[in-house]
Amino acid sequence: MEIRYLFLDMNAYFASVEQQDDEDLRGKPVCVVPVEAETTVCIAASYEARRCGVKTGTPVYQARGLCPGLFVVQARPRRYVEVHRAILKAVESVLPIEEVRSIDEMRFRLLKNERPHARALALALKRAIRARVGEHLLASVGGGPNRFLAKVATELEKPDGLVLITKEDLPKILWKLRLTDLYGIGRRMERRLNRLGIFTVRQLTEAPLPLLKRAWGSVLGERMYKNLRGEDLPEIETHRRTFAHSHVLAPELRAPEKARLVAVRLLVKAAARMRKAGYAAGSLFLHLRFLEGEDHAAFTHLTPTFATRTLVFALRRLWPEHERRPVLKASVVLGHLVQGAGLSLFPAERKNQLLAYALDRINRRYGPDTVRPAALDLVGEVGEYRIAFDRLPDFSV
Ligand SMILES: [Mg+2]
Repeated sequence: MEIRYLFLDMNAYFASVEQQDDEDLRGKPVCVVPVEAETTVCIAASYEARRCGVKTGTPVYQARGLCPGLFVVQARPRRYVEVHRAILKAVESVLPIEEVRSIDEMRFRLLKNERPHARALALALKRAIRARVGEHLLASVGGGPNRFLAKVATELEKPDGLVLITKEDLPKILWKLRLTDLYGIGRRMERRLNRLGIFTVRQLTEAPLPLLKRAWGSVLGERMYKNLRGEDLPEIETHRRTFAHSHVLAPELRAPEKARLVAVRLLVKAAARMRKAGYAAGSLFLHLRFLEGEDHAAFTHLTPTFATRTLVFALRRLWPEHERRPVLKASVVLGHLVQGAGLSLFPAERKNQLLAYALDRINRRYGPDTVRPAALDLVGEVGEYRIAFDRLPDFSV
């Protein structure tokens, strides 16, 4: 069975960026921390640090004990996003990305004529990152007949790994793994499987469908059953590709500074809908149609986020700064959606996320717009004009 997907995972991403940028850190044990305090935990560790037992989540004082000479470096989220964008550009010179999974993970779907060359393409991806972004940025690439197995393959060899799982050698590779090595099996699911008599991956692959349905529920159980057999399944909820809002502006809102607030308002709405559906956005697209007929379109990849404040900052970067032409129509599109993104390890982003949750709770309880960014009231004041922010047809990129 052929390789239909490649999955790429940057190795020790934050720590590698630090080693790439600072020669003195190369080959040394490095751990990255969100704030400078001994009570904080490592959010990333270089392979040199991992060899002494330092992991993500190890408290700094403990890490220092485990690893004499440890370099403790403060995280630079902005830099990681910058490098992330450079990586996306580099890999897209080889293959179009199917999905950006997180700041250091992405997936590619191979076309029929590309599949026989999966190994060469995987090597080309790794090469492109080293050549165009930095030679100390290593990635593990996995390939498989479906998305699930491509991800499993990525985990098998680190750092700088390359593992392709074909249907023929499925048992040989899978049976060596522990249950928790498989995507979708955490400690809790493992206990549940144990109670159903499944202790090994081999037992899992040989278990009948009804048993997996009992463990995961009928939909996810069937997916796991088929995924383990190399079937290529459609993604869940493929119909939901974007959250978008657009609005035709009344004359008094067409000045660029008013139009910008309308765009922010559209974004606030789209972000709230997206959070309600349990997604985070990996990209933001802004489109403006000027009164005279021209357009401005701008796009940016994001570290997947559902925090309104983070998104509003991103929108600010996309806005044409010295624009004077009146705007007729504004559209914002949240794309490259990721399901079930958790709270960020970075304090600033985490704060923005928690703020978004808090506002959602208040607005759910006391009605929409009970709490909203103050600047948006400027839009409301203009000539008593009420903006109809009902759901408009989705504007797809
Ligand atoms: Mg990684």
